[in-house]
Amino acid sequence: MLNMEESLAPVEKTNEDVLSMVDVLKEEAELEEEANAVLGDSDDQNCTYPMGYVSRQALYACSTCSPENPAGVCLACSLECHEGHELFELYTKRNFRCDCGNSKFPGSTCKLYSEKDASNSQNAYNQNFKGLYCTCHRPYPDMEDEIEDEMIQCVICEDWYHGRHLGVDSLPPCETYSEVVCADCMKKHDFLWAYNVQSQDTKCMVKEEVKSEVDVEGASPVKTQETKENGSDQGTSDDTDNKMSCLLKDLQKRGTSVQGSGSFWQDGWRNKLCKCADCMVKYKAGEIEFLTDEVDTVHNYEQRGRNKTTPCSQYDKGMQALSSMNRIQQVEVLHGFNDLKSELTDYLKKFAENGKVVREEDIREFFSGMEARKRQRATGPIPFMCK
Ligand SMILES: [Zn+2]
Ligand SMILES: [Zn+2]
Ligand SMILES: [Zn+2]
Ligand SMILES: [Zn+2]
Ligand SMILES: [Zn+2]
Ligand SMILES: [Zn+2]
Repeated sequence: MLNMEESLAPVEKTNEDVLSMVDVLKEEAELEEEANAVLGDSDDQNCTYPMGYVSRQALYACSTCSPENPAGVCLACSLECHEGHELFELYTKRNFRCDCGNSKFPGSTCKLYSEKDASNSQNAYNQNFKGLYCTCHRPYPDMEDEIEDEMIQCVICEDWYHGRHLGVDSLPPCETYSEVVCADCMKKHDFLWAYNVQSQDTKCMVKEEVKSEVDVEGASPVKTQETKENGSDQGTSDDTDNKMSCLLKDLQKRGTSVQGSGSFWQDGWRNKLCKCADCMVKYKAGEIEFLTDEVDTVHNYEQRGRNKTTPCSQYDKGMQALSSMNRIQQVEVLHGFNDLKSELTDYLKKFAENGKVVREEDIREFFSGMEARKRQRATGPIPFMCK
């Protein structure tokens, strides 16, 4: 996608310390791969509107075009219709239809797909569309916030939270969980606590417990506090033997520890949610049916993005020097990827035109310049990457 043939031609690698254009392109390919991970299936050419409510896509809010009315535009629209505007990076959201040029954008039309309805009634807009995040309703990055903290996305409401505002004393070790549900969402869907039986230190036991659940019915090993789950599902099928047994009810019998905090979930936890008829009704009523779908996870989405490109093959010494540099955050890459392409091309053109060889420090200089410029730009939250 980057055509630099002409500008590349005159530059040749003369000795070990010099980076070839091929090296630079390899680095670019790697950046592109990372950008692709964040972009997932998102299309950078076509407005996604005709696809309807897309299960997951990269989204942006434009405060230049739609300062009052929260609205979201797709990746292609962010590039084509809102270039140079003040954009909030929203990372990815589920079940959203592109708003570009609709009634939320007085005086501007979509250059890519103008036949849109006035509004998309099923779109959900949280405070992120106004550039605010977390229970503290602050922007990100937050110039007034001196505490170093990570932003973690709740997989249900998709808002972003400071680690310190999830209601836990300290975050569990990164490698012990892959998804987080915020305190508000846990309160709203408090039956989920039944699945979150692990406290920090019993975490590794969970797999076994859940697996053997049906066999140990009646046993009550970790009785903490009876769940206050009340209502329809309790009495209905408890006594019906011929009905498919409900894992949730089994878990609830053993006691659920309801807490006032956010919750942390291991890889694959969604597969373990009960899918009996009663539970499916419950998910539907709470509008969280997506939880039973692995495809909904950001991980799955990113994987699809990664699979779109073949990873670049080998790096030489110059590349090692390059790769040791401070890696540009994925989202920043995504945000500035087009800038990077054209700026790098321009930068290298100068060398080509003057018949100059590009040295390692020239490349370093270029990338550090890029990073400095990126830091000045307001970006969205850094997605939580637990790898
Ligand atoms: Zn669009
Ligand atoms: Zn705009
Ligand atoms: Zn557009
Ligand atoms: Zn906060
Ligand atoms: Zn939430
Ligand atoms: Zn069930």
